[in-house]
Amino acid sequence: MKTNAFAYQRPDTAEEAVRLAAEGGDGARFIAGGQSLLAALNFRLDEPEALIDISRIATLRGIERRENRLLIGALTRHAEVAASPEVARDLPLIARAMREVAHPAIRNRGTFGGSLALADPAAEMPACALALDAVMHVLSPEGRRQVPAAEFFCGMYETALEPGELLTGVEIPLPEPGARHGFSELARRHGDYAMAGLAMMLGPRSGGVPSWARVAFFGLSDCPARSAAAEAAILSGARPEDCAAKACEEIEVFGDLNADEATKRHYAEVMLRRELTRLANDEERTA
Ligand SMILES: Cc1cc2nc3c(=O)[nH]c(=O)nc-3n(C[C@H](O)[C@H](O)[C@H](O)COP(=O)(O)OP(=O)(O)OC[C@H]3O[C@@H](n4cnc5c(N)ncnc54)[C@H](O)[C@@H]3O)c2cc1C
Repeated sequence: MKTNAFAYQRPDTAEEAVRLAAEGGDGARFIAGGQSLLAALNFRLDEPEALIDISRIATLRGIERRENRLLIGALTRHAEVAASPEVARDLPLIARAMREVAHPAIRNRGTFGGSLALADPAAEMPACALALDAVMHVLSPEGRRQVPAAEFFCGMYETALEPGELLTGVEIPLPEPGARHGFSELARRHGDYAMAGLAMMLGPRSGGVPSWARVAFFGLSDCPARSAAAEAAILSGARPEDCAAKACEEIEVFGDLNADEATKRHYAEVMLRRELTRLANDEERTA
C-alpha cells in the first residue's frame, strides 16, 4: 500500500512549524525521523493532509548541559544519544536502554523526541523519562509550556501534547552521586519492541535503604507505568523478592500477542527481583 497524497512543508524554525501546524489543523502531522510515521502512512493507518517536516530545525537538535540538568533536543537521533559521552556519564540509564531501541538503521534516523511523542507502550525511552523524572518542553503558537513525564504519557499512543503542539526537547535532572539505575527488557529478538521492560532509578543509600525510588515498567500496560507499591517496598528495606511481588499491584496489565496478562506480571516480577538483587550484590562487593 502507499500513502495518500499530502502537502509537504519543511520549516526552518520551531515557531514556523507550530504556525503551519495550527494552519493545517486536524489534518497536519509533524514528521521527525519518519521511522514510525512513514510505516503508519504506508499502511493507511493515518491519512494526513499535510506533513510538516521538522528534520531541518537545528535548534531542536543536540545535547546540552544546563547546571544540574541535561537537555536533549527532540530531534536528537537515537544514535547520537547512544554515542553521547555526556549521556553515558550522567544518564547511564538512558545509555543502557538505548542499546535495546530498534536496530542501527532505525537508530540513525529515529529521534529521541519522536519516540516520546509517539508514546508506544512498549518503547524504552518513555519509561526512562518516567524513571528519571524528565520534563518535556512543549511549543505551540500560544507559547511554551513544560510537562512532567508523570503527566505526559496518558494512554496508548496518547500524550499530553495537544494537536499542533511540538515537543522541542526534554530536560532531565542529573541524579545525585550515589544514585543507581536498573534496566531490564524481554524481547523476542534483540531490537524488537519489548514484551515487558523495567527502567528504574534508586537514590543514594541512607540508613541502608535508597533515599528515593522510581520504578517504571513498559510493555505491560497501555502506557509506561510507575509501580508505587514496589517503590514503597524498596524504601521500606524489603527483600528483593518481596518488592518484586508488589511490582504490578496497582498496574493494569494487558495481555497481547506476545504474552498473556499473567505471563507479563511474571516477567515484571522476575525483572524487578533480578535487578534489585544485582544492585544489592554490587553494593556488597564494593562495601
Ligand atoms: C522495525 C522497527 C523497530 C523498532 N523498534 C523500536 C524499539 O525497540 N523501541 C523503540 O522505542 N522504538 C522502536 N522503533 C521506533 C523508532 O524508535 C522510532 O524512530 C521512534 O519511535 C519515532 O521516532 P521518529 O523520529 O522516527 O518519529 P516519526 O516517525 O517521525 O514520528 C512519530 C510520531 O511522533 C510525532 N512526532 C515526532 N516528533 C515530534 C515532536 N518533536 N513533537 C511532536 N510530535 C512529534 C509524529 O507526528 C508522529 O505522530 C522501531 C521502529 C521500527 C520501524
